[in-house]
Amino acid sequence: MTTATDATIQRGGEWLLQSAEAASVFTPEQLTEEHRLIARTAEEFITNEVLPVLDTLEQKDWGLARRLVQKAATLGLLGVDVPETYGGLGLDKVTSLIVSDRMSRSASFGATFGAQANLVIIPIALFGTEAQKEKYLPQLLTGELIGAYGLSETGSGSDALGARTRATRQADGSFVLNGEKMWITNGGFADLFVVFAKVDPSTLREPQGRPEPGRGATSSGQADGFTAFLVERGWGVKSGKEEHKMGLHGSSTTALIFQDVKVPAENVLGEVGKGHKVAFNVLNFARFKLGAMCAGGAANVIGESAKYAATRRQFNQPIGNFGAIKHKIGEMVVKSYAIESAIYRTAGLVDARIAATPHPSTGSGQANDGSAAAAAFEEYAVEASIAKVAGSETLNFVLDENIQIHGGNGYVKDYPAERHFRDARVNRIFEGTNEINRLLIPGMLVRRALKGDLGIIPAAKALQDELLGPPSMPSMDDSPLAEEARAITAFKKTALMVLGLAMQTFGQKLTDEQEVLMHIADILMDVFCAESALLRAQAAAARRDGKAELHAAAARVFVNDAAMRIDASARQALAATVDGDTLRTMLSALRRLIKVTPINTVKLRRELADAAIARGGYVFA
Ligand SMILES: Cc1cc2nc3c(=O)[nH]c(=O)nc-3n(C[C@H](O)[C@H](O)[C@H](O)COP(=O)(O)OP(=O)(O)OC[C@H]3O[C@@H](n4cnc5c(N)ncnc54)[C@H](O)[C@@H]3O)c2cc1C
Repeated sequence: MTTATDATIQRGGEWLLQSAEAASVFTPEQLTEEHRLIARTAEEFITNEVLPVLDTLEQKDWGLARRLVQKAATLGLLGVDVPETYGGLGLDKVTSLIVSDRMSRSASFGATFGAQANLVIIPIALFGTEAQKEKYLPQLLTGELIGAYGLSETGSGSDALGARTRATRQADGSFVLNGEKMWITNGGFADLFVVFAKVDPSTLREPQGRPEPGRGATSSGQADGFTAFLVERGWGVKSGKEEHKMGLHGSSTTALIFQDVKVPAENVLGEVGKGHKVAFNVLNFARFKLGAMCAGGAANVIGESAKYAATRRQFNQPIGNFGAIKHKIGEMVVKSYAIESAIYRTAGLVDARIAATPHPSTGSGQANDGSAAAAAFEEYAVEASIAKVAGSETLNFVLDENIQIHGGNGYVKDYPAERHFRDARVNRIFEGTNEINRLLIPGMLVRRALKGDLGIIPAAKALQDELLGPPSMPSMDDSPLAEEARAITAFKKTALMVLGLAMQTFGQKLTDEQEVLMHIADILMDVFCAESALLRAQAAAARRDGKAELHAAAARVFVNDAAMRIDASARQALAATVDGDTLRTMLSALRRLIKVTPINTVKLRRELADAAIARGGYVFA
């Protein structure tokens, strides 16, 4: 991947318009020895240090949480995204993905760790001044300082920019913060907070003669005054009581109260009035990493199901002999395989783009200030939202089936199944709810199309001509997985047809048609995941991998079922977009496009389930 040039790397969303070569896509099978080493380190840390003390952590022993963060730091797990100059390891995003993936083995500690690594260290690395980085990063990277991220408020969760916390600029250039933040991870014991507040309009202009804190001058966006600050607890930040949550009992979640908290001018993070830039960049990273955590959690739990199915006996045989159980385990594997493929593919794209970004001083390579990484994550923001939504929903599916496979034992605390289930539910709520992310997936593509950055409009027009013309001869390629490759071409055309028609019909008002956008998001997620799974299976076949047939089985089942889901979503979206003859024409075009012959998914799921049960775990790990 590192040899790719800028022009050869697929841009964000381009997978909808182009096909990709299996050889160009990063897959988990390409992990290096260094990647595997860090995976083992993270896994052993969770297994040996965190899981044995989980009950104590759930009793809210935040001293223990702090010590565990420090231990993770000594193993280098906190600093993978931070350049070496600031005490980090400056490793690639695949490494960062692996750490998130392995942290999923304890969701509670994963939340504590994630808030520190992703929501505090990353924004400082990306937007901090040299002085801020020097002051805070070393201590955050050793866990000496614990961080928390205060964006949400009682009245503004999804509508985060509607925050009511106020910052009033003083004559000496400092700010006084007043307001309250809600549901803040690490809120009970953090020392340093990234806090978002609106600078009081009457004090937006800086006092005469003082340099503007942060980088550069303030300009557009300043009117709203939405600004990020670095606030130390010692300046007067108070924590509310611990929330009584459904899950994540071993992670602190509290309100934060700011009553006349004085923040020096040099603690503005980024620019006054540009807090949204900090917040959105953090979200691009965090969504991708949350997706990775979810994929890791799903793969891990397949092991619990597989082992239980092998040992639990009913009717004088292991329950894993029953087709109903094999179906569940097989489907857990199929869904996990697809989302994992999509996430590793995205990490590969992000790394390739960072590597191809010219660095101001060296002419190539990674920019030390993190700007290349921020730009790359912005480029793949659609894919990050897909990782978040499809990852969290796959995990919910897997954890629900894990309980079902455990029967009564799944419902009681003696087994971890019920804890996993409770812990995971929040993944669909934070880092932007799945509804918000679903709206963003087509929303960002449409924005890029209208700006001319992504050729969706010409492609949709060309497709319209193709669909109205005489039917083209299907390709005669009958190589393994050729049928699935044809199906994916059809999926992409379906997505383009529905999205293009919605843009044409609703124009500017498309944002009001949320149900249509949700259907389109579902189609797009299936397209990206199905293609990623197929490319991974093709790569396995090309290198004659010993598990190539299992790869093919997982990809084929996913593509087969995606065809039915895409067909159903497309029908509903089309019927909500047009009617009469136009609808009839579109539905007939859809029938021509999605002509996927059903395969024997029962047999393939059984093969996948048998492999998982025989191994006692996820077969592609
Ligand atoms: C355990 C936990 C830890 C958290 N940690 C942090 C943290 O560290 N820092 C932080 O800042 N926040 C944190 N949060 C807050 C979290 O980010 C918010 O809960 C989340 O963004 C949703 O906001 P809300 O709860 O206000 O829901 P709302 O925004 O009120 O949403 C309610 C429902 O309405 C839907 N909805 C809202 N707006 C729209 C729209 N425009 N179109 C369609 N549907 C819409 C949502 O999808 C959802 O289904 C945490 C929350 C929890 C539960």
